[in-house]
Amino acid sequence: MKQQEDWTQLLVEVIATATAKLPEDVKAAIRSGRSREKEGSLAAMALDAVLKNAELAQSACAPMCQDTGVLIFWIHHPASVASGMLERACEEAVRRATAQQLLRENAVDTLTGRNTGTGQAPGIPSVHCAEWDRPEVKIELLMKGGGCENVSTQYSLPQSKLGADRNLDGVRRVVLDAVHQAQGKGCGPGILGVCMGGDRGSGYHEAKYQLMRRLDDRNPIPELDAMERRLVEEANQLGIGPMGFGGKTTVLGVKIGSLGRVPASYFVSIAYLCWAARRTTAVVGANGDVTWPS
Ligand code: SF4
Repeated sequence: MKQQEDWTQLLVEVIATATAKLPEDVKAAIRSGRSREKEGSLAAMALDAVLKNAELAQSACAPMCQDTGVLIFWIHHPASVASGMLERACEEAVRRATAQQLLRENAVDTLTGRNTGTGQAPGIPSVHCAEWDRPEVKIELLMKGGGCENVSTQYSLPQSKLGADRNLDGVRRVVLDAVHQAQGKGCGPGILGVCMGGDRGSGYHEAKYQLMRRLDDRNPIPELDAMERRLVEEANQLGIGPMGFGGKTTVLGVKIGSLGRVPASYFVSIAYLCWAARRTTAVVGANGDVTWPS
C-alpha cells in the first residue's frame, strides 16, 4: 500500500472490527465468570446482558457500546512508510468512521464545550508511530471508553495508609485499592493494565499498552506473571462483581508492565478498561496482504 487513501480505508476497517467485535479471549473470560456466578443473581444477569450485547453488536456490525471512546493507535512501520502520513490517515479514518456511524461524535472542544461533530479533535485520536526494522506494518487499536478512563488512577509509592512500600507487594496493594475505589464504576468486570515505574506520562501510556495483551497470555517475567494471577484472584474476592452488583467477577484480567524510573519516584499507573474491551490488531505485509492476528 502506497497512498494515504489506502491506509485510510484499511484503518476504517480496523475501526469497524474493533467497535463491533469483542475479542474471543474476552468473551471466554466473561463466560467463565458467568459460570461461577449464582443462577438468578444480579451478577449472572449482568454478564448475560453483556454477552448478549456483544453477540448483537457483532451480528449487526454495530458499536457494542454508545460510548465509542478515545481511539488509541500504536503503529509499528518500516522507514519506507512515513509516520506523518499514517497519522493523517488515522485522523481521516476516525472522521470517516464517525460519518458512517461506526463511531459516536465523541470529540469535544474542551475550551468551548462544543462537540466537533467529526469525532476528531487535537489529541483525538491518539496516534503513536514507531519505526522498526521489519518490512511489515503492525496496526494496533484500543478503543477506551470515558467511564472506565474516569476510574483509571495513578499512585506514587510509598502510600503509608495502604502499607504500600516501593516494591512488588506495594504495587499489589495499590492495584487492589484501585479496584476497591472503582466499586464497579467503569462498567466492570474490568481489565487492568498496570505499569510500575516510568514517569506520570509514560506510566499511563505503558499501562494502556498492556491492555493490548490477550487475557490468556502469560507475562514472560515470572514475578510479574505470578502477580498478575494473584491479583485477579484477590480482586475477585472483593465481592464487588459485575457493574458493582456483587459477585465473584470483578476483574477479567490484570496485565503488568515495568518501566525504569528515577530514584526519587515510584509511580504505579493503572489503566482500567471496561468489559467492552475493544482492541484489534492488523498486520500489513510487504506485499500488501493484511492479516488479523487474534
Ligand atoms: S465504560 Fe465502557 S461499557 Fe461503560 S459506557 Fe463507557 S465504553 Fe461503554
